[in-house]
Amino acid sequence: MWPVYFPLDVAHNALQMDAGSKEHQKWYRYPMNRSFVPEPFRLAVRRSFSGRGLFTQECIPEGSCVIEYIGRPATPKQIKENSGKYLFWTSDTSMIDGNIPANTARFINHSCAPNCEIDICERRVYIFALRDIEPGEELFYDYGEEYFEMHLAGKCRCANCSR
Ligand SMILES: [Zn+2]
Repeated sequence: MWPVYFPLDVAHNALQMDAGSKEHQKWYRYPMNRSFVPEPFRLAVRRSFSGRGLFTQECIPEGSCVIEYIGRPATPKQIKENSGKYLFWTSDTSMIDGNIPANTARFINHSCAPNCEIDICERRVYIFALRDIEPGEELFYDYGEEYFEMHLAGKCRCANCSR
């Protein structure tokens, strides 16, 4: 499994903007009236091309709020070191640590051609569908440029890169 990224660049973009603002609309395809309440889709952790991944067992319509990336507040030490596998920035100064059993979203792998994206609302992290996702498909979001440069450049195994 890929280490779950703490995409500060992605988080940073989301945090600079009010949901629904002009700026926000430039970054997100479904910014208006976006509901930050995950729908109860049936998801399952299964074997993936790299360890485990998160799959959907039913159709997820484009634009849906799929799941929340939940965690406990990161400790000051974790924030300073910024090195935990499941840390996720939720503001310029705060993070959550998603390494808890309840956080199913930690199984979502990176793809350069993802079917989901991250958005942050009031320091909570959510995953949205970028298109209709069919039953049996794996969920992916883009972990962001910073992470890609550090860990994936030249060796990304997503469907887009391994074609
Ligand atoms: Zn890739």
